[in-house]
Amino acid sequence: MGCKQRIKFNHRVSQSYMFSLKILQNLKVSRAANNHNVLNPNNKCRLSLCVLLCFIFIYNLSVLSCERPEYSRINVALGTVCTVTLFDQGKNSIYNDIFNRIREIENLMSVRIPTSDISRINAFAGIEPVQVHEETFKVIKRAVYYAELCSGAFNPAIGPLVSLWGFNNENPRIPSQKEIDEVLPLINWRNIELDPETNSVFLTQYNMALDLGAIAKGYAVDEATRIAKKAGITRAIIDLGGDIMVLGEKKDKTLWNVGLQNPDEEQGFTIGYLQIPESSVVTSGVYERFFIEEGKRYHHIFQPSDGYPVNNGLLSVTIIANNSMDADALSTAAFVLGYEKGRALIESMPSVKAVFIFQDRTIRTTPGVNLVITDKSFKEIYLSRVTMTE
Ligand code: ADP
Ligand code: MG
Repeated sequence: MGCKQRIKFNHRVSQSYMFSLKILQNLKVSRAANNHNVLNPNNKCRLSLCVLLCFIFIYNLSVLSCERPEYSRINVALGTVCTVTLFDQGKNSIYNDIFNRIREIENLMSVRIPTSDISRINAFAGIEPVQVHEETFKVIKRAVYYAELCSGAFNPAIGPLVSLWGFNNENPRIPSQKEIDEVLPLINWRNIELDPETNSVFLTQYNMALDLGAIAKGYAVDEATRIAKKAGITRAIIDLGGDIMVLGEKKDKTLWNVGLQNPDEEQGFTIGYLQIPESSVVTSGVYERFFIEEGKRYHHIFQPSDGYPVNNGLLSVTIIANNSMDADALSTAAFVLGYEKGRALIESMPSVKAVFIFQDRTIRTTPGVNLVITDKSFKEIYLSRVTMTE
């Protein structure tokens, strides 16, 4: 086994709010502290400096909205940096309600909180069904729906594989083929049994484990959005570690600009930006959490069929959709499916759009995506439209 050249955990830049993360970086929050692990509350220890920022209002340059600067609130939750900006009437109490709600979701769905619904389900794998909160049930049900829809490319039973590769702790490593072969039978999502009568979930095999890391953050964004709307907020940007919802429209009635992270670069470097009306933007990519060994990158999104990190020529997939839970699941699903199948899946859904960024620095989008590329080393490939004739 060769020596590890570099182990690096990355945190996806807040796609629209680089400024927030820059503050954290300037405070010399360690690289590891920027480890983005959805639903990983252990990161909170390492993010002590970030925690100091909790409940502090930060003057936001509002780079992309180009509006009068507003106040944002930054907090650490769901194992990531969450930035909420409520324009116009952002009262303290609304920020509190939003962050309390995010914390509630974390307490229900984190694999790292021993009392969470997910941890309890996992602890009783192969033993007995576990009754869970109705919203945990709802998110698991949606996750299973997506697993079915994309033939298991999106797989909420991926837990044992994530653990094997060490992506839920500080020491990721390449497991042996034997270890992978042993774990693969445990990630069969069809062995998740749901009972809607009692909101119970049963993992039929001992040592199975759910992992909602690819969908729960999106659900939290939707809940934060719901609370903001209910409180009368008409314009907001909610950014939970890169799962973004822009609400309403900019003051000058123009579209929001949401930056797209350059998957090849340090956080904060974008390839350009999307111009969108109210919608959610979520990205899955190779740059979020990874380590490099012998020059090869091993990242945190797995191909369930072989147990290895997805390696299909894609660097990232960004989904634009009406709600964030679906965008979150679909970004992972399309990334795992790869370009052809992923694109077909997205195009089968009205109102969902996608941006595919490839290792060769080409970009392909589904119809209707408004992407402005500012990094000219990337280039968009337009599909030639073939006219079908009889
Ligand atoms: P991010 O966490 O970077 O936002 P994703 O939404 O794609 O990106 O979620 C990745 C997380 O989902 C991983 O950290 C892991 O917990 C889990 N995961 C990895 N591979 C899969 C998969 N094939 N299907 C579902 N979840 C996965
Ligand atoms: Mg996802």
